[in-house]
Amino acid sequence: MADGVDIVDRRFAHYLLDNAGLEALATGFRWVEGLVWMADAGCLLFQDLPRDRTMRWIDGAGVSVYRAPSRYANGQTRDREGRLIACSHLDRCLYRTELDGTITRIVDAHRGKRLNAPNDVVVKSDGSVWFSDPLYGISNDFEGERQPSEQAPALYRLDPATGDVRVMASDFAGPNGLAFSPDESRLYVAETGDQAHDDPEQLIRVFDVAADGLSLSGGGHFHTIDPGYCDGLRVDDDGNVWASAGDGVHCIDPHGALLGRILVPQRVASLCFGDRHRSRLFIGASHTLYAIYLNRRGAAWP
Ligand code: MG
Repeated sequence: MADGVDIVDRRFAHYLLDNAGLEALATGFRWVEGLVWMADAGCLLFQDLPRDRTMRWIDGAGVSVYRAPSRYANGQTRDREGRLIACSHLDRCLYRTELDGTITRIVDAHRGKRLNAPNDVVVKSDGSVWFSDPLYGISNDFEGERQPSEQAPALYRLDPATGDVRVMASDFAGPNGLAFSPDESRLYVAETGDQAHDDPEQLIRVFDVAADGLSLSGGGHFHTIDPGYCDGLRVDDDGNVWASAGDGVHCIDPHGALLGRILVPQRVASLCFGDRHRSRLFIGASHTLYAIYLNRRGAAWP
């Protein structure tokens, strides 16, 4: 079995490949964030967040700058038309890259007050855009700039067709990474707390999504990450949750049980499935981009 893994449950052994260990793909970044696989272009996009730029990695060709400035972009995803959607700390908005390359700001306020610093984003199959809005990106000058908050942290849903933006959950100190289960009946959200004043929360919460997609219920404890905390997370096509952590990536089954860990030398902030069949897990860990092939496939839509 590959070095650098911790098998807690025997199921996890079957998710790994004997001859496929962790690879460091590129390093020297200030802080890697916001991984998204672009299958049609055969590349991975990710943020070098404090350098205010979006990077592109192509297998065999290496890393180049995709966009600079990125407006201190963090989490990103693609909508159902393939358009890239990114969270901007600096501009306190979500912006979308249209298929002709122009950029559209799709949300920057709720009820007349500016958002804080959108952190992570996912798109549901109905086209709605779900995003977290904690204070982190406006609490220092490293990942954006210090700016006053106009409203409490929250989890939002945007209908880009109508512009309707609504709070889906507000009982968060610091909503962070988010991902739907493969059937979209559940939404997992990392709660990382008020990091300016307290130790980070280590929770992943799970919500039940109403059939019409317009409300959430539940929101209780799903799993506690240790060590560190969960920033970005993804699900595989069997509904397991792959969560960033202080020591690598943790794989958690749909009941909340830890199956195993992929140990990474630096703290992990973001991850995504990609490559052929979405069976390669890309990992953004502090200054370095890593990847590992798995005997797993990521959910069809991140
Ligand atoms: Mg985050």
